[in-house]
Amino acid sequence: MTSEPHDAQLMDQAVAAIRAGRLVGMPTETVYGLAADAMNVLAVASVFEVKARPHFDPLIVHVADRSQLDTVAAEVPAPAKKLIDKAWPGPVTIVVPKTPAVPDLVTAGLSSVAVRMPDHPVALELIRRCQTPLAAPSANRFGRISPTTAEHVRAEFGSTVDVVLDGGPCRTGVESTVISFLEPTLPPVILRPGGMSREAIEATIGPVWDIDQARQSGSASRVTDSRNGGLASPGMTMRHYAPRTPLLRIDRGAEAPEGGRAGLLAFEGEPDAASRGFVAFEVLSPRGDLAEAAANLFAALRRLDGLGLELIAAEPAPPSGLGVAINDRLHRAGEEEEDEPL
Ligand code: AMP
Ligand code: MG
Repeated sequence: MTSEPHDAQLMDQAVAAIRAGRLVGMPTETVYGLAADAMNVLAVASVFEVKARPHFDPLIVHVADRSQLDTVAAEVPAPAKKLIDKAWPGPVTIVVPKTPAVPDLVTAGLSSVAVRMPDHPVALELIRRCQTPLAAPSANRFGRISPTTAEHVRAEFGSTVDVVLDGGPCRTGVESTVISFLEPTLPPVILRPGGMSREAIEATIGPVWDIDQARQSGSASRVTDSRNGGLASPGMTMRHYAPRTPLLRIDRGAEAPEGGRAGLLAFEGEPDAASRGFVAFEVLSPRGDLAEAAANLFAALRRLDGLGLELIAAEPAPPSGLGVAINDRLHRAGEEEEDEPL
């Protein structure tokens, strides 16, 4: 995919906006981002403002080439280098020590920075033309459902964000996998499951831990930087990715809960929702394909959320590959979450 010629003018506007310290809606293969010049503190501050994002939640820095990585990363340990050689551009974010050039606001005061190279021609063109890394969280208000089309971004922010580049629907559909390389004596630790599966990462760099393994070993604070108030990775510890409609996780094939108009978010199969008492349904992948399901997840949640239901009941995905990221998002979108400090 390349930018259509008729988009060239919009791309020019986007480059000018970033250079002027304003925000741009940017397509990536994971979700749409709200991008700012990562080196411009005022621009980064307006990302937090527009999103109503708490300042303790660090942003991912997006780069288009290795020399930009070197401007933000003080060190790229060997396993991290091996992973990005294989997986970039792609949906995996490395957490490594930061250089002084990265404003503290970007990293929420941490001494580490999260960096990735998005696999989307529009994002790469924007970053290259701006000649600066772009800090970009998902382009939604804090805690809400992530956007996977340009229309979602416009609906969320209206004229507050004056340039939204349209790169089509996001291919991956869930955020990147965030993996920490801060503690050289431990295996790398997945802080947030995402678009690159644990299996695919391990096939490249060998065994990694998930955050529960780091917690059990008592070393979680070392992989995330203890100044982070003991939180592993802020996006992981609170209600997030949430529709306005209450969301309840149910077992596969369960009946609709009593007492209200409920919609079903099914992972796969034939829609038997009506016979189970649901008034609406979405099937993430009729043939049970995890990549297809991930790509449909947030748009399906948005559609159900727009129906004025009293409840969304979500069935889990199989717990491997991209299913881990899908289930993580459903878990955090649900009602009964509590913070899980390390
Ligand atoms: P978002 O941009 O909303 O998809 O969220 C980015 C997420 O990346 C944050 O919420 C954190 O979970 C994670 N992250 C970013 N920077 C760091 C860092 N330096 N250390 C640990 N996690 C980070
Ligand atoms: Mg987000």
